Amino acid sequence: MQIAFAASECVPFAKTGGLADVSGALPSALAAEGCEVKVFMPLYGSINTINHGLTFARELYDIPVQIGGETIYYHVWYKKNGAGVEHYFIDCPRYYHRASIYTNDGDEDKRYILLQNAVFQILQRYNWAPDILHGNDWQTALLPVYLREKYNWDSLFWKTASVLSIHNLAYQGAFSKESIYHAGLFYDKYYPMGPYEFHNAFSFLKAGLVYADAITTVSETYAHEIQTPEYGARLDGVLRMRHDDFYGILNGIDPNEWSPAADKFIPQHYGFETFADKAKNKKALLDYVGLPLRENVPVIGMISRLAAQKGLEIISQAFPELMQMPLQFVFLGTGEQKYEDFLKWAAHTYPEKVAVYLGFNNELAHLITAGSDMYLMPSRYEPCGLNQMYSLNYGTVPIVRKTGGLADTVHDYHEFNQQGNGFSFWDYTPYALFTSIQRALALFYQKDAWLEVVQRGMSEDFSWQKSARKYLEVYQRAKSKRG
Ligand code: ADP
Repeated sequence: MQIAFAASECVPFAKTGGLADVSGALPSALAAEGCEVKVFMPLYGSINTINHGLTFARELYDIPVQIGGETIYYHVWYKKNGAGVEHYFIDCPRYYHRASIYTNDGDEDKRYILLQNAVFQILQRYNWAPDILHGNDWQTALLPVYLREKYNWDSLFWKTASVLSIHNLAYQGAFSKESIYHAGLFYDKYYPMGPYEFHNAFSFLKAGLVYADAITTVSETYAHEIQTPEYGARLDGVLRMRHDDFYGILNGIDPNEWSPAADKFIPQHYGFETFADKAKNKKALLDYVGLPLRENVPVIGMISRLAAQKGLEIISQAFPELMQMPLQFVFLGTGEQKYEDFLKWAAHTYPEKVAVYLGFNNELAHLITAGSDMYLMPSRYEPCGLNQMYSLNYGTVPIVRKTGGLADTVHDYHEFNQQGNGFSFWDYTPYALFTSIQRALALFYQKDAWLEVVQRGMSEDFSWQKSARKYLEVYQRAKSKRG
């Protein structure tokens, strides 16, 4: 099967969150299943072409795209990875050399309109007909729309089916209706409740959800949740309408990057048989962040974008009570000011118990995952979540709110079932969070029972291969609609 996959971020080139992990790993896993995959993304100013070994594609030089009243030109860079996946980077400094990957600039819509047109134009120049065109989140959600409304004249794409994946429904790409003109589409589909209209705006994501042959999201529970008004971010109605073509597929994790036996960033490798060795990572972590090592005091780690979604509210409300317990916290994150302020306050007020690193630090993320005893993820909603899966495989017992992918991967331990691989709670309240941490702490001191929980987590299989096969099934179903 031939697959054209587009995304706004992709590991190892550019990353702000889980989408980059998926775009980095899924195409390679699909290639291992025998697919031919081309990945398309912007060449952001932060991507160093030399360090990443990219080649300038001479045959794709100075390609024009009409965006609204302007003609924009771009070049293309290229790289084939070890799994045989071909990456194409859209080079347009005027759009992509900005201080960050995403911006609030007035031309944010145009930046991704360019990317999506480039996907079609490059495929045309190579005369390469994909079976599947796979878009991800709002930045590439117009691909299904383009397939039917803009590039439908080209017989190259007549058998191509589209798939759109939602990695986080909260980000919808809503722009003024002029954006329809920028995109090269027509206003005839912009009317109340029409395909392009969404609360008096043009939403890339809504339009994509209406047009895609199949829709996926990154866990089964999130797929159910976002069809309800509570979690649906106003798109629940559209998703209910597309119910028959909507699938939840859990993300996998990359064992080359995230496994305690092979992790490049931790001082001591370990497995369940050598679990005692994990203590060396704990020592290294505490040294790194400047906390004292305390016998029998568990360290709780957290690595997160500091956004409302991630549960910082209930952590801060429960914090003074949590500080009464024998535990230490290590936080790594960056994001909204008010959460950064809370974390600074916490580290300042409890210097022996709390360490905070504000920023993006992949090496420290690995050390926290390996060196902590427990991992905290009390998200208000969580499409899939990766850190709880890493933590499970690292024997770092997760404490999570039972939502989205967290509900699908972390199974609550309690003394009556003697099963479970972590702790979870449902109510989004500081009290529920506090009680779960209390339960985890109580079990931490019952070493045998604790090790059983650890062992169950470490033996969970979150391989991408399992997920890739499910995507292939969805691709087949989408394709069968196009004959
Ligand atoms: P989201 O996509 O909502 O941010 P996920 O759990 O799906 O959440 O993915 C987050 C990814 O980003 C994980 O790989 C996590 O380790 C990483 N990450 C988040 N914040 C940081 C940070 N400050 N430093 C290093 N890695 C981070």
